[in-house]
Amino acid sequence: MNDVRIAIIGAGFSGLGMAIRLRQAGIDDFVVLEREHEVGGTWWVNSYPGCQCDIPSHLYSFSFAPNPNWSRTYSPQEEIQRYLHECVDRFGVGSKIRLGCDVTAAEWDEVDRRWRLETSAGPFRAQILVTGAGALSVPSRPSLPGLDDFEGATFHSSQWDHGAELDGSRVAVIGTGASAIQLVPEIQPRVERLHLFQRTAPWVFPRTDRPISNAERWLYRRVPLAQRLVRGAVYANFESRAVAMTVDTRLLKPFQAIARRHLHRQVEDPELRAKLEPTYLIGCKRILVSNDYYPALTQANAEVVTDPIRAVTRSGIVTADGTERELDAIVFATGFKVAEWPTLGFVRGREGARLADVWHERGAQAYLGTAIAGFPNMFSLLGPGTALGHNSVVYMIESQIAYVLDCLRVMDERSLAAVEVEPAVQAAYDAEIQARLKNTVWASGCASWYLHPSGRNPTIWPSFTFSFRRRTRRFDPSDYRLEAAHAARPAPVAA
Ligand code: NAP
Repeated sequence: MNDVRIAIIGAGFSGLGMAIRLRQAGIDDFVVLEREHEVGGTWWVNSYPGCQCDIPSHLYSFSFAPNPNWSRTYSPQEEIQRYLHECVDRFGVGSKIRLGCDVTAAEWDEVDRRWRLETSAGPFRAQILVTGAGALSVPSRPSLPGLDDFEGATFHSSQWDHGAELDGSRVAVIGTGASAIQLVPEIQPRVERLHLFQRTAPWVFPRTDRPISNAERWLYRRVPLAQRLVRGAVYANFESRAVAMTVDTRLLKPFQAIARRHLHRQVEDPELRAKLEPTYLIGCKRILVSNDYYPALTQANAEVVTDPIRAVTRSGIVTADGTERELDAIVFATGFKVAEWPTLGFVRGREGARLADVWHERGAQAYLGTAIAGFPNMFSLLGPGTALGHNSVVYMIESQIAYVLDCLRVMDERSLAAVEVEPAVQAAYDAEIQARLKNTVWASGCASWYLHPSGRNPTIWPSFTFSFRRRTRRFDPSDYRLEAAHAARPAPVAA
């Protein structure tokens, strides 16, 4: 049995950020459990062509680890993964990371007041469990009739088959979300035919991506304050969008006008333009950014298919109008299983309650996106209600990390064995957040991965990120049930 004070699941931005901050706080008794054989989380797993961040890198990085060497304002996937790898070395947390270690079970032991984890590398026991496994890590593939009979290649955007021969072949891409709009322009010039199956046309904003010059990088190396100022300016620019998304959605009209002009400038054919014109309020789904998505779709070898898919045959896809398109490969850019929270659902708290069952009916809930009633000493980084439609989630992660560190401080000062958020505190918080969400763009009537099938939005933080930071600045013990280290423990239940 591996015994540690803190077990962290996942070595992406959340898990690595937690590990680095723990080490900086002088806490060394922790382990990071990562199922992949590399660090980086989503920035390791997603390697589809064109994968790139749609938040500028000066902001989409740790505040405590600025990188003066970003090559572009919006970095490609390999560069972000490399950055995270470098952070591991720079802050000396490599020895704490167990790669290839898949956590298959996590259960709170009431008697021990410890978490017991089952992993592919054996059992672990920890006082504190920090989950940083992300919400977007279990691919969602629609179960289309006949799919199993298809004789060509099929794969999901986040499980890119780099061995699949796409050059000169007939390829279908299903989905038009953030992943699809990045990979479509990359593969369109390579394939013989590209059929893009679109269910909902997305809003696409122009992208202000450019290389960062040598002179700028020199400046950032020599004058770190210059990069901090740029980061601050980018943050303020993105944060200002929260006003339109969460306070007065009428302010989204100018954004919509910019996106519509982008479409009209890039697509001349009125028939294609009509297909690509979104019909919901901008921001209700994630706003996409691209300068080469629309141009790719105007090429002679590309087709946007809006007829619903009826079935897959051995050699292609048949749509509702009866047309069959012959294909060599189908790429699913169909997003992730979010509503079920598969990355957290397997966790069992008090009395063996499975989180997936607790959340089944109305979707996920967590106090400050971080603590869950019935699950003592557990903290979920980028948990329910912390996703953003307007700014960098790394900012949210850092806010949560500070909260967890403050909790550890309080636990040490008061010799606490366990802390568990009061159910009433969590319920009041959830009611407040749900009430706020009612007036936001995410409740304006589109279908999105932010919503649970019940219609509740368990995903998004519906306000300014600085207000989330303010609320997570201090761990308030009065929100929690506290168990002193010397308190009587429940007797073990006889078998
Ligand atoms: P997504 O946004 O959930 O998009 C999935 C797409 O697949 C949607 O167009 C959806 O259509 C379509 N779809 C799903 N099931 C379908 C079906 N049965 N038949 C036809 N179409 C179907 O997934 P994603 O593009 O992978 O992006 C997910 C999230 O990952 C993003 O919102 C973002 O947060 C993150 N991401 C970020 C970046 C970045 O640059 N930072 C890049 C990629 C992804 P509907 O719209 O009609 O549902």
